[in-house]
Parts: sequence; C-alpha cells; structure tokens
Amino acid sequence: MSDNYITITTSREVSEPIELKNKVIEFLQSKEYVERELSDCVLNMKNKGYRPGKNHVSAIGYDEDLLSLNVCGLEFKTQREVMNAGAFTAMTKMECPNCNKNRFEGITPQDFFTDNCTKEQLELFHSVFPQFDSWTNGYEAKLKCPHCLTESKIENYKTDNSISFSNFGLTFWNWSDLTNEFIEELKTVIRTDIIRINGHI
Ligand SMILES: [Zn+2]
Repeated sequence: MSDNYITITTSREVSEPIELKNKVIEFLQSKEYVERELSDCVLNMKNKGYRPGKNHVSAIGYDEDLLSLNVCGLEFKTQREVMNAGAFTAMTKMECPNCNKNRFEGITPQDFFTDNCTKEQLELFHSVFPQFDSWTNGYEAKLKCPHCLTESKIENYKTDNSISFSNFGLTFWNWSDLTNEFIEELKTVIRTDIIRINGHI
C-alpha cells in the first residue's frame, strides 16, 4: 500500500529550526490539531510523530477516518534535507540562477515515468542526486546548467513545489488535505515563506 503525505516546508533554510519546531508544535497542540505525546504513527522508523488530535478534522476540512490508519501522524524535520527528493514524484523545476531556464524544461513527469525521456534528459535528473547528498551533509553542492553552462550552488536554484532545499518541514502522513485557513494559521506561526508539497511513497 502506498502512503500519501503533505509536507509543509520553508522555502529556504531557517536559522533556528529546533526553536521553530517547538513554537509550531506548541501552537498545533494548543489547538488540538495533534496529540501531546509522541507515538509510532509515521512511516519513518527512526522517528516518532504526533497522532492527530481532537480537532484534526478542521485542519483537513472533512472527516476521513484518519485515526483508523497506523500511519497518520505528523513528523517534524529539522535537519538539512532536499525535501521530497526521495519521493515517487518527479521533480519539475530547478531554475538556473544565471539564465533563469529550467533544468527540466520540456520534460513532463509523465515522460519521466513512462520512460519517454532521452538519455540526455534522464542524465539531467540523475546528476542532481550526488549534489543533493553533498548539500544534505553540509558540503558545497553545485550544478552545471545545461542551457548556459554556468555552475551555481544548488540552493540558489529556484524550485517549485516538487522539491525544496530546507531544514524545516512538517510532514502530515496520510492527511488527505489541509485547508487554506489552516495553512494561513501555520504561516503566521512560521513567519517564513512556506511551500506545500504533495507526495506519496
Ligand atoms: Zn543557466
């Protein structure tokens, strides 16, 4: 069975991810969107999460019997990570900071998943992962743009909601939606631009 998730992540790194996490969790618990105790309710084996609280239905917008699922919790990420890079969702945009052209221009996710890409196009995807690893581990990571051939740091590439270079994220496992009101509330607590990523693994 595949599990779906919605990740809310800052569009870039924040300076105090742990403090921000504490602030956000306090807010979510005070509104009873999630429970107070950590439990085994997320897909990540190394991590525990917060199960949906009494008021979670108002964050989702409708009741979908979320509590009947084993994987239904909220997981926090507070370390550098290319958010969503490991998902079965194709990256769609990495725009070069020098020429503003998209590295994946002309490649649709459908092309990608139906093996409809040329070897050169596939190489544009595969070549990013070693750089993602370097960045995640705190090293400098650069990519050469296929259009203007300029090398730039990966965090300076502009992305859409398919990936994000961040150190702060909230992953809602199997929450099928989040209302705009809820996301606005989160924004006022996080106080940095946020991106919503939908994915499944
Ligand atoms: Zn370029």
